[in-house]
Amino acid sequence: MKTLDDILLLGDPRLYEVCAPVTREELPELMPVVEDLAGLVLQFRAKYGAGRAIAAPQIGVMKRLVVMNVGQPKAFFNPVLFDCSEEMMELWDDCMSFPNLLVRLQRHRYCKMRFFNASWEEEVWELSDDLSELMQHEIDHLDGVLATSRALDDQSLKLQLR
Ligand SMILES: [Zn+2]
Repeated sequence: MKTLDDILLLGDPRLYEVCAPVTREELPELMPVVEDLAGLVLQFRAKYGAGRAIAAPQIGVMKRLVVMNVGQPKAFFNPVLFDCSEEMMELWDDCMSFPNLLVRLQRHRYCKMRFFNASWEEEVWELSDDLSELMQHEIDHLDGVLATSRALDDQSLKLQLR
């Protein structure tokens, strides 16, 4: 089982790499990774009281895979955002790769997301607010973009002890 020590931390060069698409053939070998990631979300939430999703590159698996675990684990393979709203929202974002840092940034309030599920069926979700900013954060990870790169200005980083 993976532990929180397996999560790559801010500054690790792998967090800045672009991840490769997942192929249908890779699905069986990635299912244990889905379980690992789902377990890590629970561990993180138990320790820090927050955390809903994690991206595969955060444990060094450089594949386009995101796992959300709020009640029930859900895997998103090759997720793509489209129809992102012009309307933005501003928030303090956090990340399992820097649990004590908050970053002020902007995200689209609404967007749509296309992805393949664990049965390799295509799904399209309409996202708003919390889920919208969450998935923008996670898909950024697949492109090697961290919240720190989206800080609004030099006063948009805040350390928090928790
Ligand atoms: Zn993150």
